[in-house]
Amino acid sequence: AKAAGRNNFRFFESEMGEAATVRMKLENSLHHAISRNEFELHYQPRIDLKSMQIVGLETLIRWNHPQLGRIPPLQFIPIAEESGMIESIGQWVLQESCRQLRQLIDRTGRPLRLSVNVSARQLKSKTLVQQVQAVLQEAELPSHMLELELTETALMEDMDISVAILRELKDLGVMLAVDDFGTGYSGLAYLQRFPLDVLKLDRSFVNENAEGAKNLKFIKAFLDLAHALNLSVVAEGVETLEILNYLLEFSCDEGQGYLFAQPLPMDELEIFLKQSDFS
Ligand code: C2E
Ligand code: CA
Ligand code: CA
Ligand code: CA
Repeated sequence: AKAAGRNNFRFFESEMGEAATVRMKLENSLHHAISRNEFELHYQPRIDLKSMQIVGLETLIRWNHPQLGRIPPLQFIPIAEESGMIESIGQWVLQESCRQLRQLIDRTGRPLRLSVNVSARQLKSKTLVQQVQAVLQEAELPSHMLELELTETALMEDMDISVAILRELKDLGVMLAVDDFGTGYSGLAYLQRFPLDVLKLDRSFVNENAEGAKNLKFIKAFLDLAHALNLSVVAEGVETLEILNYLLEFSCDEGQGYLFAQPLPMDELEIFLKQSDFS
């Protein structure tokens, strides 16, 4: 019976395929990742393109799996999302990054803004608004120092609910940004329904656009339209001086990318803040 069981398992495993097995492994260990302290937060600077100063940080989660090593967020965030674990992970990210920002401000006196990614599922959670309020209070941060990044697809999933929750968040005073703009199909017209402050232009545009003149026209038109709608624009994935020059020419507000800085853990970021030309 034992041998048959083993064979069954082998059959099952090959049927599911290796990808599904890895996924199951990840999902199982994701349950303990918070309590076992396996997550780590990195912060990527955001640069104001007029002053060339660091004005904010985006929190990016890292998972150090005890056996598999570092798992990229694009691999585990979708699993966390589907299994519902994103709600507790998201809450942890919000709380921990606000705490770390408070410590950074206390040590350096630099009032940097903090951007935190919020997933579609978190946005629909009934407790998001309370969570945000509690976390800000605990870290003693003014609400305008926190920005929440929401993807276009998350906003569009349940538009009326999203509008209502965003209004509540806006009433608290937090900043609201659309992440990965340009990868969805909604366009700016739809986005006018939401009380937004910032659009983050997806890096696939920013990078590709360095090449073709047609794409550059797109970026320029996009910036003009966003500004006409009173939105501030952040270009993601700024990797070259060439694209930076175009962004400056088109009056893009802020930039983020390897040209300025990689995402760094807080202790390294603090050193970077002391040494970098952008700070
Ligand atoms: P995102 O929100 O679009 O974050 C930007 C991603 O681009 C980050 O990848 C960052 O490391 C990377 N990046 C920054 N500058 C450059 C550049 O110049 N060139 C290139 N090629 N890439 C650059 P990362 O850290 O791997 O995160 C991937 C995605 O995972 C994020 O995309 C976000 O959607 C998700 N994510 C990360 N942390 C969290 C989190 O705490 N909560 C949620 N819900 N999602 C998160
Ligand atoms: Ca983001
Ligand atoms: Ca993004
Ligand atoms: Ca992205």
